Amino acid sequence: MSGSHVGVIIVGAGLGGVRVAENLRANDYAGPITIIGAETHPPYDRPPLSKSVLLGDDDRVDLKPAGFFAEASIDLRTGERVSAISPGDHTVTIEHTDDPAQSDTLSYDTLILATGLMPRPLPGTDGLVGVHMLRTIDDAIALRAEAETASTAVVVGAGFIGCEVAASLTKRGLSVTVVEPAPTPLAAALGEQIGELVTRLHRANGVDVLTGTYVDEVLTDGPRIRGVRLDDGAEIAADLVLVGIGSIPVTDYLDGSGIELAAPESGGGIACDHRGATSAAGVFALGDVANWRDEGGAARRVEHWTHTIEQATIVAHTITGTHATISASPPYFWSDQYGLKIQVLGSPRAGDDVHLVDDDGTRFLAYYSRDGVFTGVVGAGKVGAVMKRRAQLLTPTQIAEVLG
Ligand SMILES: Cc1cc2nc3c(=O)[nH]c(=O)nc-3n(C[C@H](O)[C@H](O)[C@H](O)COP(=O)(O)OP(=O)(O)OC[C@H]3O[C@@H](n4cnc5c(N)ncnc54)[C@H](O)[C@@H]3O)c2cc1C
Repeated sequence: MSGSHVGVIIVGAGLGGVRVAENLRANDYAGPITIIGAETHPPYDRPPLSKSVLLGDDDRVDLKPAGFFAEASIDLRTGERVSAISPGDHTVTIEHTDDPAQSDTLSYDTLILATGLMPRPLPGTDGLVGVHMLRTIDDAIALRAEAETASTAVVVGAGFIGCEVAASLTKRGLSVTVVEPAPTPLAAALGEQIGELVTRLHRANGVDVLTGTYVDEVLTDGPRIRGVRLDDGAEIAADLVLVGIGSIPVTDYLDGSGIELAAPESGGGIACDHRGATSAAGVFALGDVANWRDEGGAARRVEHWTHTIEQATIVAHTITGTHATISASPPYFWSDQYGLKIQVLGSPRAGDDVHLVDDDGTRFLAYYSRDGVFTGVVGAGKVGAVMKRRAQLLTPTQIAEVLG
């Protein structure tokens, strides 16, 4: 099939890639669509990986039922990786992941890049047995298998993934220590005041949360880890280590393509306009890898599920020219920890003023404001109270009005 021409080629068979293909068909795009995915699994959803999959409750994470792609005439090619693209002659080069010598070239009218992220490794841990990162279902199954026999774990980094893994491993009966250089978990995203409430939640569930410190060295016994040494010299024994210190946009296949990448200060990733168009004609990007510039000119890369869904809708409408109204909604994401849903609605920032309006020692609700204007709401176990603030986050609203 070398040299075949396809109307729309989508690189990445994750949430963004699958959703944009589905939206194109929903918008009556009738041309050929090919999705190329480097993983061998059928497309699956990632949020359950750190939650129900790690807990062993549920392995049904497929994004679509079997038969969906054939019925929608979408050519899904898994186990194949795009290794290069050439926007000048509208071609992509594809390699089989298990045999890179087997390669193929396809040409396109429209190319959509939805290649997501790869976890940032902890230096010095490459190849060590017992050190895990979590991005794929294979990662989750490997971590779960090791958790079956492990009794102690160190989680390096208290971002959302680190916090969720700490909660799931604790529920599985492991003794968990979290190590975080910032003063609290989630400090960079939500600020220290709410970070303290998250610390309280973890400690109440038996997790040892060590903040203001970092892992200086991973301790080994042959090829297997046996613990970590912190910057103050303290040693913590561990049967397994989960590294959750952030992720890196997957853009290696763009080397030499001329497609513009965003500056690291604005989050890196593929630079796009407010509808996902990249610097190359006919090439769009969306999801975790994409850095969209809003109509005000601010560039931002977001690593959340709902955001990816919205971008897939916009890109599909842009390609089909069906500028249907997209219902406005404030940015939203959630995290599940110890049976509590932590929700973030709007665009709260670490430096904002925080107004804690409800706190029963476990569940809490806080509003955020900047220069007197309501910017966001964060709740734990407060689903109704969070979601009822949507309208007030869509137009500039004084925080005094929200506080009533
Ligand atoms: C463990 C975990 C838990 C999460 N929990 C939450 C949550 O609770 N709430 C929330 O809002 N968000 C959560 N997220 C984030 C959410 O899952 C992502 O925002 C979403 O998956 C982004 O979709 P995407 O399509 O951009 O990227 P991905 O889902 O990562 O898909 C990208 C795909 O592209 C493939 N790919 C990469 N390079 C190539 C190439 N060159 N050729 C072919 N294929 C390639 C990759 O293998 C991958 O399968 C979580 C993420 C993880 C990892």
